[in-house]
Amino acid sequence: MKKKKHQLTIGVLGFQGDIEENVAAAEQAVEEMKINGKVELVRYPEEMEKVDGLILPGGESTVQTALAAIQRSLPILKKRIADGMPVLGTCAGMIMLSKKVYDHAVGETKQKTTGNLDIVIERNAFGRQNDSFEADLKIDMLGKGAFKGVFIRAPAVSEAGKDVEVIATHASKIVAVKQKNIIGTSFHPELAGDVRMHKQFVKMALDYRRTK
Ligand code: GLN
Repeated sequence: MKKKKHQLTIGVLGFQGDIEENVAAAEQAVEEMKINGKVELVRYPEEMEKVDGLILPGGESTVQTALAAIQRSLPILKKRIADGMPVLGTCAGMIMLSKKVYDHAVGETKQKTTGNLDIVIERNAFGRQNDSFEADLKIDMLGKGAFKGVFIRAPAVSEAGKDVEVIATHASKIVAVKQKNIIGTSFHPELAGDVRMHKQFVKMALDYRRTK
């Protein structure tokens, strides 16, 4: 079959954290969806301009933001998201997108974020490394069947703005949200052994590219 000229490009922010795991999950999603697409690491502003959707991996939000700031990638990221580019922020990635950040132990952190996602977030809301856990989540957007939430030093959403849809909760805390082109999860979908969340995201990127 003749390959379509324009390939869908999914980016994974490549500074720190669960980078390879997200690349693998996105590649699996693209393959299973039989899409002409590729997955690339993104670090520099010019790379950020080229992608149709970007995944911000879990890891350490302060380190990732600091590295992105050094590369002058944060303002571009903020602008591209505001212009409609789909973004999937998982764990530290969701923290990087939020309006305001608190830490369970130390209060407001004043760390830099893009601020595109209208939420207040509490870092380490379920405790620290030893309190990492897995839980079955009900996420209607992904269809029937529980989605395995892998929570590692996970944050939770403590306040959500009016345009923010809550898509999953656990233990009375908000653990996944959607605001137009932005999905944020407290957990690590790339570690679930289930690429439904990545497929949902690839679909959003595909729809976005079609509007361009
Ligand atoms: N607690 C980490 C942070 O604040 C996030 C943990 C994770 O991404 N698994 O950056």
